[in-house]
Formats: sequence, structure tokens, C-alpha cells
Amino acid sequence: MTDLHRLSIRELAEGLSQAKFSSRELTEHYLQRIAKIDSQVKSYVTVTPEQALRDADAADAALKAGNATALTGIPLAHKDIFCTKGIKTTAGSKILDNFISPYDATVVEKTKAAGLVTLGKVNMDEFAMGSTSESSYVGATSNPWALDHVPGGSSGGSAAAVAADLAPFATGTDTGGSIRQPASFCGLTGLKPTYGRVSRFGIIAYASSLDQAGPMARSAEDCAYLMNVIAGHDAKDSTSVKKEVDDYVANLSNTSVKGLRIGIPKQYFNVVGLDADVKARVEESLKKLEEMGATLVEIDLNMTEAYVPTYYLIAPAEASSNLSRYDGVRYGHRCENPADLMDLYKRSRSEGFGPEVQRRILIGTYALSAGYYDAYYVKAQKVRRLIQQDFLKAFENVDVIAAPSAPTTAYKIGANLSPTEMYLGDIYTLAVNLAGLPAINAPVGFDKDSLPVGLQLIGNYWSESQLLSIVHQYQQNTDWHTKRAAIAEENA
Ligand code: GLN
Repeated sequence: MTDLHRLSIRELAEGLSQAKFSSRELTEHYLQRIAKIDSQVKSYVTVTPEQALRDADAADAALKAGNATALTGIPLAHKDIFCTKGIKTTAGSKILDNFISPYDATVVEKTKAAGLVTLGKVNMDEFAMGSTSESSYVGATSNPWALDHVPGGSSGGSAAAVAADLAPFATGTDTGGSIRQPASFCGLTGLKPTYGRVSRFGIIAYASSLDQAGPMARSAEDCAYLMNVIAGHDAKDSTSVKKEVDDYVANLSNTSVKGLRIGIPKQYFNVVGLDADVKARVEESLKKLEEMGATLVEIDLNMTEAYVPTYYLIAPAEASSNLSRYDGVRYGHRCENPADLMDLYKRSRSEGFGPEVQRRILIGTYALSAGYYDAYYVKAQKVRRLIQQDFLKAFENVDVIAAPSAPTTAYKIGANLSPTEMYLGDIYTLAVNLAGLPAINAPVGFDKDSLPVGLQLIGNYWSESQLLSIVHQYQQNTDWHTKRAAIAEENA
């Protein structure tokens, strides 16, 4: 079979359970595609063929013995920020170049327990700081829709791998948009769950009060399958929430688009830098939802201007603290011949961290230092609360809120935006993390250069089922999520 990579997760599960193909055949198929095509996309940092085939054989045995789960034998890729026992985990940083974790992240453990087969680890911005995946120490990943463009970031490897059909789905993390923006740039569906829904244990920390893992795939249905595996309370993550997990797949048709009230924030559609094509495609998708029975309601989100400055204080502050553990002593990169302890710290960190990570450590350390703490960090925390309240007020009147996921489509590789230009590109995604809300990106068409455009739907707390269900129904009535980049059409 040459077209296994065209099948949805549901079709893969059916095919495996009906023994139309084996997990070994499916896994070999993906490994062959990676070997042939990934030299152009560069989505994988590490491919693990031996382990994948061993896991595939175990999955085939479980399928034969009748003790398989719904997803046993289906391959996936993990962002290189999830710790994987025995397999290198770099977080895109030279400082973790040779780091092999002694344990699995809870998300990885759960995917293994579900019988999923790990193909390998995919590229990302260094420590998940960025919007292009170019800051990775192994180099840039290409956008499958236009190889001279970025796939977005920081989960750019996850997005590129799925969009090039080099994995049926993938895990990502989202601290300020890193699932939704690359999903948008690569024409995929990606869900950032409510803070606390998915365990952060074993995920290399960037900004702990904002970090959250989620699925990236072609459709809402495919995302729902992965959510069913990774969601849930975990005693090893103190901010993970003890709350019953929905059956996201069973709930896919449960939310009625008819009568759904979709909030359209006035402030969002007048943002300077919002690309005309992005605006047009997003408005067309909202029209479609209106035709399907939704009501569009204009709303106010008055704190919009505060999103970027607030996030770019809180996230670096937390990062400066989280990244202090990389000191050349316990693990990771160590400089040659240190003169003394101070020299060891200084040179190991200067050599190991790239420029964007260093910039954020400096900003964060400054914001947290005595004398500036109240003026910057404490103030940002207060504004963060106001941003959250702004959303809660909006949700008194609407069910979900619509926005673009990003003001533009994918940038060119090497476009070399200034830090402020780059940060402003996160305007639509940051507030969701600051408030801890769930949000989803769905592909809704293309710009004049044939690059994908994404619609973002933001939900109230714990509304993952609702978001997946709305997008699922939109996808039953449209075919944007079925479009494939030329490179995905290539056969291995
Ligand atoms: N682009 C944002 C940043 O650079 C978000 C990153 C993320 O969600 N990990 O911080």
C-alpha cells in the first residue's frame, strides 16, 4: 500500500483492527517517507527506527491477542521538548545537545501505554522561545507548503512533520501560541488545552504558569483521538487539575453550531499588521459558521494592547528562573577547561544558549531583580488578572471567541525580523495562555501565495470538547483540512 499516509486516525485504527495492514507495515511506510522526504523538510531532530519497529511489532502482537486500545499501532512524533527515556531530548538547544533523560514525560508515557509508536523527536525553537523554529541549534525546518518559508514555532517540527505526511499526528506545546501558530502556518488543526488539563511532568520547562501540551493533526477528529490519550490529572504535576476527562471523540458532534454565539472582538480585527488575505479568509470562515447556524456577536476585549508586553515580562521572568538549572554541572553542555566555578557557569551558559534565549534570561532576570520587581513583574501579574477578567466577562455573553491565530501567513526563512516585530506576531495567541484558556486553530484557506491561513476559536475553561466539536462540524462542511502540500503528495 502506498497511500497509508493519506488515512485519518480513525481510518488507521480501523485498518489496523481489521488487519488490512499491520503496525509494522504502517511504521515502515512512515520511516521510508521520512528517509526520502525529510531531508527537504528537516522536521526530525532524531528518528528512532529500531525502537519504532520494535514497538510496532509489540503493537501487532497486542492487536492479534485482542488486547489493543483504540490507537494501538499508530505512529506519532513528539516535539523534542518531551523527555523520552533513552532517546535524546534537546529542546532545540546546544546546552542539551547530549541530554538523555532517565524517564519519560507523562505525555510520552501515556502515548506508549496507548500502544502508539514513536517515530522520533521533532524540531522546535530553542526552549520553545520563538515563532519560526529557526532558533533551534540544529537549524531551520521548512514549511511543507513553501520550502523557503518557516513552519512557524515553536512547535514547527511537529507542524511540518504532519503537513508533509511524515507523521499522522504529533504532540506540541503552547506557552504563547506554539501549537496554534505553527498549525496555522502549516494548514493543520491544533489544540491548546486549558492550563492543567495535560500533565507538564517531563516537559522541559519554559514558562511554567503558561506551558501546556496538546495535539497537532490534520483534523479536529484526529486531535480528539490524541487528546483522549494525553489528557488527565497527574500527581507528578502540581498544577494538573483533578477533573474528569471528556471522551473527546464521542463528543465530536455534541455541540450544536446552530444557535452558537461566536464573539468577534472589535479590537482584534483592527490590529496594525493584520494581513488583508488573513482577514478575508477568517471572515469567510465565520460566514460559513454563520450559514451553519451560528450567530456572530461583536464584543470588546479592551486589554488587547497589554497582551504582548504582559507576556514578554512574565514568560521571560519564569524562563530566567527555570533555565538557571543549566549550569554545566549536572547535565548538558559544559565548557572546556573552566578556570573556576564562575568561569564554568559563565562559559557553559554563554556557549550553550543561543541569542534569543540569552535575551529572555536577561529580560527576565532584570524584571525579577530587587528594585524592579514591583514595577515590572508584580505589575504584569496584575495586568494578567485583568486580561483574564476581560475574557470571563466576554464569556457571559458568547460561547466562543473567534480570532486569527496569527496576523500573517508564514514568514520566509531568514526574514530576520527584529525581536519586537517577532513578538507582535504573537498578538492573537498570548492572552489565551495568560488566562489559562483553551483554544484551537483550524485551517480556513490560503493567501495569494498559496500559504495556509488559520482561524482561532477560544473557549471558556474546560471547553476542549466544544472547540473540537465546532471545528469538526466546520470540517464536515468544508475541505481545507484535506488539502495537502505538494511535498506530501510525493510517494516514498
Ligand atoms: N512565540 C511565543 C514566544 O516566542 C510563544 C512560544 C510558545 O508558545 N512556546 O514565546
